Amino acid sequence: MILSIASGKGGTGKTLLATNLALALSSKARVQLLDCDVEEPNDNLFLRLPVSYSQFVYIPIPKVDETKCNYCGKCSEVCVYNAIAVLPQKVLVFPELCHGCGACSYLCPEVAIVEEGKPVGVVEKGSLGNLELVQGKLNVGEVMAPPIIRAVKKYIDAKSEIIIDVSPGTSCPVVEAVEGSDFCLLVTEPTPFGLNDLSLAVEVTKEIGVPCGVVINRAGMAEGETERYCREHDVPILLKIPLDREIAVLYSKGIPLVQGMPQWREAFLGLFENIAARVGRGKMPEGSGEGKDRQ
Ligand code: SF4
Ligand code: SF4
Repeated sequence: MILSIASGKGGTGKTLLATNLALALSSKARVQLLDCDVEEPNDNLFLRLPVSYSQFVYIPIPKVDETKCNYCGKCSEVCVYNAIAVLPQKVLVFPELCHGCGACSYLCPEVAIVEEGKPVGVVEKGSLGNLELVQGKLNVGEVMAPPIIRAVKKYIDAKSEIIIDVSPGTSCPVVEAVEGSDFCLLVTEPTPFGLNDLSLAVEVTKEIGVPCGVVINRAGMAEGETERYCREHDVPILLKIPLDREIAVLYSKGIPLVQGMPQWREAFLGLFENIAARVGRGKMPEGSGEGKDRQ
C-alpha cells in the first residue's frame, strides 16, 4: 500500500505520524519511508538511519547556440514560466525560473537549443532492518521541488509498505507527492487555522482522486469544529493524539513516540490496519517482514 501523509499547514505533526507509523509497522513488514518534504526533510532526525547512498538530481536547462539561432522568438513564446527571453540579437535564459520542461528545445525550428543538467538537490537512502528511508533534499535557494520528489518516488519498492511524508500546504509539491497513493492521511490540529488548511487539503485529495482520512494531533483543546467538518464532508477521523506534555518532551528530544511510550505502537498499527481495510487490503500476516525489528 502507498500511504501519503500530508497536512494543509506546517507544524501539525506530520513528521511525528510518518516516523512513528513507519517504526511501528517495521516490526511487522518491510517499510519504505519516503521523505518528500524536500525543503525540510527531517524524518531522519528521529530515525537516525545511516545514509549509505546519495545521488544528485538534475533538471535540463536550455543552452542556446547563437550561431544557429535566428532570434525568431518561438522559444520565448512557448515558455509559460518566462524563463527565456529573446532580444533582437541575444537570447537570455533565467535558470532559476526554468522548470526543465524541454518545450523550448523541442520546438526550436533551428535546433539551436541543447540542454545542460543543473543540480537542484539530492536523493539519499539509508536502512536498518525492515525500514528503509529515501529522502529528497532541495538545494538551498532552489524552488523546483517536484523533480526531487519524482526522483525520490522512482525508488518505490513495490514489495514494501510505502509511507510518503509530503510537504505541508496544498501546492504542486503536494500534488506530485500524493498522486498515485492508495490513501492520504491528513494531519491537523484543532484550531481555526488548522481547520481552514485541513479543508483546503481535503479538496486537493478529492481533486486528485485519493481517499483521505484525518488524524487530529494535540487533541483535547477544542476539536468540536474539526469533528463537525469531518462529519459533514464524510471524512473519517482515524486517530487522535492528545495534547500531552510527555509527547511534546519526547518530540523535542528527537525520541520517537513508539520508543519513548511503547504503548503507542498498537495505536499506530491499528491505524494502518484500519486504512488497509478501507482500501480493500487484507490484514497483514503476522511476522510478514524480514530482518531486525527496530522496536
Ligand atoms: S526558438 Fe530557437 S531559433 Fe528561435 S529564438 Fe529561440 S533559440 Fe533562437
Ligand atoms: S525548459 Fe521549459 S521552462 Fe525551461 S526555458 Fe525551456 S520552455 Fe521554459
